[in-house]
Amino acid sequence: MKIERVETFVAKAALETPFYFSQSAFTERVVCLVKITDKDGAYGWGEVYGPPAVARAAIDWLAPLIIGGDPLQIETIWSELRKKIGVFGRSGVLVSAISAIDIALWDLRGKLLGQPVSALLGGRRRDQVKVYATGLYFTQTADLPGALADEARSYVAQGFSAMKMKIGLGIASDLQNVRAVRAAIGDDIDLMVDANCAYSLAEAARLAQLLEPYQIGWFEEPLSPEDYEGYRELRQRTTIPIAGGENEFLLAGFRRLLASRCVDIAQPDICGAGGLTECKRIATLASAFQINFTPHSWGTGVAFAAGLHLVSTLDVVPGRMRLPEPLLEFDRSENPLRDKLTRPRFAAVDGYVPVPTAPGLGIDVDMDYLLAHQL
Ligand code: CA
Repeated sequence: MKIERVETFVAKAALETPFYFSQSAFTERVVCLVKITDKDGAYGWGEVYGPPAVARAAIDWLAPLIIGGDPLQIETIWSELRKKIGVFGRSGVLVSAISAIDIALWDLRGKLLGQPVSALLGGRRRDQVKVYATGLYFTQTADLPGALADEARSYVAQGFSAMKMKIGLGIASDLQNVRAVRAAIGDDIDLMVDANCAYSLAEAARLAQLLEPYQIGWFEEPLSPEDYEGYRELRQRTTIPIAGGENEFLLAGFRRLLASRCVDIAQPDICGAGGLTECKRIATLASAFQINFTPHSWGTGVAFAAGLHLVSTLDVVPGRMRLPEPLLEFDRSENPLRDKLTRPRFAAVDGYVPVPTAPGLGIDVDMDYLLAHQL
């Protein structure tokens, strides 16, 4: 078994309805995928979380290290790649590049061994994963609370028992929007909020206090990811669990986040934080800190499949007889690439998505669609 080819693809799809979050607007979705093929034609797919064009250059730079290697020796290859990116790859897009390569190698290894990635990661603890709907972004509308309430009701109608909404427009506006959504969905649905790092410690503490009556499952990325001290202090000032980690990288980054007691829930992006290899280590580290692992997932079916396989192998900590299930993020915002680039198309039934059982990640890429949208 020998790796023969490493190919990168950047694809783009325009959105029908632009939407925005606390930092900026989305008018299109762009993704970088990597395909790794062995000498017998078997292949695996990986995906980058990060700037696609830069990631493509990084993967092209790393490709000679992989070509000729044994696709079954994933941790060996991972270590070589980590050594290569060195001090320039302590975080950021170079880590995203090795994440995508790693995911493609897990997919390829599963196909070569005839096993789903979940089995190779140690074995499924469940055949379907509980997901929460991510949506409830901001749009240009005269009645944002009303629009959010309608969207939230649609997720309940689709069977979701948990969802996450954007905040970060300002305390008064956030409070109005959360109130509208909570009133629309009732008290039995889990509701989480995500500020995408919009607030100072003082603002976040004030907002958290105002949101406490609304049964918030977690407050995600209230502060800048660099403000470790702020996260730690905020946790002392609210009863709402604090979540974060989509802007953190590698085991060493998560060691700092977890050992500093910054978050109650760790949210690495598998396509950014170091791939399945490193995120399995991060999940183990988090469990040792009694912190739950709920991956950030905002990409195509490749990224989502990687999340399904990994989360299917995890348990919530601490253990107890009536154990809640680990959650995976299920992006419901408009993304033609997520819906059309890969097969099968993932759908939630009663808030759960089955874990693919086919070898590898259990997905394939529609090459016609990919090439038609390639940059
Ligand atoms: Ca987020």
